[in-house]
Amino acid sequence: MKKQMSIFLLVIIGLAGTEAKEPAIFSAFFRDAVFRLDYHHSGMKSEEHFGIDRMYEEGVWPGSLSNLIDTMNLGEYLFKITDAATNQLIYSHGYSTMFNEWQTTDEASSGVFKTILETARFPYPLHRFQFSISKRNRRMMYQELFSTIIDPQSIEVHREKHIASAAVTDILASGDPHEKVDLVIMGDGYSKKDMEKFRVDAKHFTNVLFSTAPFKQHKSAFKVRAVEVVSLETGIDEPDVHLYRQNALGTTFNTFGSARYVLTEDDRAVRDYASLAPYDAIYILVNANRYGGGGIFRLYATCFTIGETPETAWQADYVFVHEFGHSFAGLGDEYYSSSVAYNDFYPKGVEPWEPNIAATVDRVSLKWGSMVDTATPLPTPWAKERYDSVESARGKLRRDDPDYAAKREKMIKEGQAILHAAGAATVIGAYEGAGYSSNGLYRPAIDCRMFSLSLRDFDPVCSRAINAMIEFYTH
Ligand SMILES: [Zn+2]
Repeated sequence: MKKQMSIFLLVIIGLAGTEAKEPAIFSAFFRDAVFRLDYHHSGMKSEEHFGIDRMYEEGVWPGSLSNLIDTMNLGEYLFKITDAATNQLIYSHGYSTMFNEWQTTDEASSGVFKTILETARFPYPLHRFQFSISKRNRRMMYQELFSTIIDPQSIEVHREKHIASAAVTDILASGDPHEKVDLVIMGDGYSKKDMEKFRVDAKHFTNVLFSTAPFKQHKSAFKVRAVEVVSLETGIDEPDVHLYRQNALGTTFNTFGSARYVLTEDDRAVRDYASLAPYDAIYILVNANRYGGGGIFRLYATCFTIGETPETAWQADYVFVHEFGHSFAGLGDEYYSSSVAYNDFYPKGVEPWEPNIAATVDRVSLKWGSMVDTATPLPTPWAKERYDSVESARGKLRRDDPDYAAKREKMIKEGQAILHAAGAATVIGAYEGAGYSSNGLYRPAIDCRMFSLSLRDFDPVCSRAINAMIEFYTH
């Protein structure tokens, strides 16, 4: 009995993945290729459905050979691969989607039914498997919404070598993709004549990322490749000013009605081009001089690449790293004063899963509580009223004001000065104002790359989350 018990415990520990250092498990269930599953995610504010679209075999598996079960506990959704014959969980992956953000918009509230194409990628199973999708409920527990059995030998799997065609170049190269974070940078809105600019941009923003802590300290853990996607026209869509371009990846401003939110619903184009290189993470640089970007956990990040004026060019450097904080490490927005398209993005009474936003801040249950000095009060006082008055004036600026960029830059600097004077960004506490909410949600530090529009490094709590994610992909 005792022996049976210890075997049982070992299986549990193996499943939890904390000590999943057995490469044998990978070879027992997978071969070194990517299984890509495109599916439609459809529904309304309060219901959702899934339908399998296409299946593909793609190049080498870029992820870890040992960390197959996702122990990070991040993301709104979780997909699981279970071996059909033995019912053993063999792979899982937490992630967020455009669909769940859309569910918090006015359009969803009005009763619209929508569909968005999504992609799940996992190592290529050797045997029949169950694919299932779960979503967090209000208690943050995952609840299964969909499952289906798939035969990896099926003749329906697309096996053509490359669906898209574009030049691929190494920006930061070294080592085995299984042991590196493989970042692929693609451009959108770069026409044939803009490709030299794309190469310069891809190198520039790679340098920006690796001059920001904690990425700076982990440069050797990354591989960065550029996929030279050629668009028919220069620029991306700006629907609010009636500009529509033939850009290859379909990125657009005004996502969910927000002027500066840049995403694409053309998942197929993004995934087809990205598959030209092994990738764990996707970055889309958009050839636009208008402030904007976006980042969804384990989907992709986007960023504009030209300053609205030479004086504000640094803001693209800020956005690039900030959005990667979302898409790579699952960090939440710590700011609360800018207008966003969401309603109740973080419902009251629910502890967010994001590692850097907290609703509960007592010393015992605060999620980063172990990092807070006992002398630091919780919640932690800060110059909130003064900061809010500057931010509220910035919020009232109009884009059609001829001095918009200059006035905005001045107010950003004023806000930064208040934060700098108010205390050290490295003092960890619980500062009220985070996650688009002025009250009731807390952030770990007075300032961070996820809070103010500045070139600050990530605070220690965000850094811890980034380091954990790098560790996950590289071991
Ligand atoms: Zn953000």
